Amino acid sequence: MKSVESNLQIITEKIAKACEKVGRDPEEVTIIAVTKYVTIERAQEALKAGIIHLGENRDQELLKKYEVLGNQPIWHFIGTLQTRKVKKIIDKVDYIHSLDRLSLAEEIHKRANRKIPCFVQVNVSGEESKHGLPPEEVLPFIQQLAMYSNIEIVGLMTMAPYIKDEQILRNCFRSLKQLQDDIQNLKLPYAPCTELSMGMSNDYEIAVEEGATFVRIGTSLVGE
Ligand SMILES: *Cc1c(COP(=O)(O)O)cnc(C)c1O
Repeated sequence: MKSVESNLQIITEKIAKACEKVGRDPEEVTIIAVTKYVTIERAQEALKAGIIHLGENRDQELLKKYEVLGNQPIWHFIGTLQTRKVKKIIDKVDYIHSLDRLSLAEEIHKRANRKIPCFVQVNVSGEESKHGLPPEEVLPFIQQLAMYSNIEIVGLMTMAPYIKDEQILRNCFRSLKQLQDDIQNLKLPYAPCTELSMGMSNDYEIAVEEGATFVRIGTSLVGE
């Protein structure tokens, strides 16, 4: 297994190149190391290599790692979140990437004792297996969130289809960017919506070219 440090160097260079191609500042892109497949030791290696942001998609695994790592990393919850699990993780996480329904918003609002930065998860590709709201439901959904004062919509998140076709991936990311711009332009006080969480091991360079501000990388950074 290659060191996280050497993987990180390669990924950082590729992100810099993608930014250069489209005239973006690489500083705008934050790497989240998705540690869901790996040990606590490997997560610690990532932190030593300079990673600050960690992503987990299951409450139990997040709690296990949190017990050891505490709030040294910035924690991102990136997986499907069951409403009844909210109270277990709400004091541990810094960002939730998978807000996709009102009942979940209500529970986060109720259990949190501070504003929680959330991404609305969007199913851009329309694949049935994917979670998230269809694009046309995103704005009406966000408009219903004004009353939940512990929720701040910082941006939108998507998972692209698991394919190689670059044009399909690009279109998917571009649609999300367009939607994010539209919502940002509304200047809703509780939904600044300036961020885009998109791009994984297979497609982060395209995502960065299309405007990603958070990329979520597991396999090619820390391993599977
Ligand atoms: C697992 C996962 C990732 C990382 O996937 P890789 O292909 O291993 O980089 C990113 N986002 C979400 C939501 C995930 O569940």
